[in-house]
Amino acid sequence: MSNIIYLDNAATTRISPAAREAMEPYLDSLYGNASSLYSLGRESAKALLTSRRSIAEALNCDPREIYFTSGGSEANNWAIKGTARLMEKQGKRHIISSEFEHHAVLHVLQSLEKNGFEVTYLPVYEKGAVRVADLEKAIRPDSALVTIMHVNNEIGTIQPVSDIGAVCKERGILFHSDAVQALGNVPIDIQKLNADFLSLSGHKIHAVKGVGALYISKKIRFAPYIEGGAQESGLRAGTENIAGIAGFAKAAQEAADGVEEKNAKLLPLCDKLYRGIMKLEKVHLNGCYEQRVVNNLNFSFEGIEGESLLLMLDMAGICCSSGSACTSSSLDPSHVLLALGLPHEVAHGSLRISMSRYTTEAEIDRLLEVLPGVVGKLRAMSPLWENIMKNERK
Ligand SMILES: *Cc1c(COP(=O)(O)O)cnc(C)c1O
Repeated sequence: MSNIIYLDNAATTRISPAAREAMEPYLDSLYGNASSLYSLGRESAKALLTSRRSIAEALNCDPREIYFTSGGSEANNWAIKGTARLMEKQGKRHIISSEFEHHAVLHVLQSLEKNGFEVTYLPVYEKGAVRVADLEKAIRPDSALVTIMHVNNEIGTIQPVSDIGAVCKERGILFHSDAVQALGNVPIDIQKLNADFLSLSGHKIHAVKGVGALYISKKIRFAPYIEGGAQESGLRAGTENIAGIAGFAKAAQEAADGVEEKNAKLLPLCDKLYRGIMKLEKVHLNGCYEQRVVNNLNFSFEGIEGESLLLMLDMAGICCSSGSACTSSSLDPSHVLLALGLPHEVAHGSLRISMSRYTTEAEIDRLLEVLPGVVGKLRAMSPLWENIMKNERK
């Protein structure tokens, strides 16, 4: 698998050499339980402490506000369910979110709706961003939480999170942001975001899978999320994944310190991709070109199924993603693309290209070399494309 061109970094990333190195002692000789009192255990406890400090430093918060989790999904579940439990005691059962959150937010909200909560989903419009004016209108006296992602994972658009945080602070509403796709792509300063909760995931920033964190502002008093031990200040029981956490802390440091360098490297590649792909017939960029991270571009190709496009690219050794959620057995197009107002048939023909700091110009050139042929071949076989062309001639 050495010649793979990996352009699906919004799905997961390869581990960085430094993150791997940071893990190694804890996979090997330093295997003590961080709760044990002898020195082998204390080595693990020390790693936990320094890792928490590095993450806090990367985000500009207090280390005691960082809670390690199994990843972004758990962090989202914890923030939202924890807030719901806390706020319903005050009779607050209204939550504000957006139409295109990650499923680890949306599905939690849907289950809360079945349990007496009301959720307002803000529209994201064609450009793929919520509007602060819509948020202000949606706020009610019983609003408990606003949960809006920092960067969308499917189309890469950036949400106005600082403004959202400011509104929430002023109106006394808690604010959670899923920042899994933001870390390493945009600068993050928790103090400027005015966020009460922030979700992070290791494997999206070149650490291993199965580790992440939730920032919980120290003014929040949550009940335990996982019971059964004193780990994570008694809020999340379970023996800590020390190796994973040490690698995650290193990766977070690299991600936060490397934002500018990475973006400077990827901007010309993003531009080249955009210009190269937009040369093709009947192709659209999903979301807008301005308010986005430079590592993620999502296009719709009329007359094509995204899945066929993926499979043909895979045969050429290129890994991308289609926007459509065909991981489930349903053939429904992606909720994100539908939220942008795309017609079903256009939402089906989408392709997400997501780069990392390891992406090279040669890889982008190769994609641009292969793609036109693949698109042409699929369209030549597509009845949908034939119809589009027929209507064009009318
Ligand atoms: C990947 C992702 C998640 C889930 O993170 P895991 O660590 O895989 O659980 C949540 N939100 C967004 C925006 C993501 O991209």
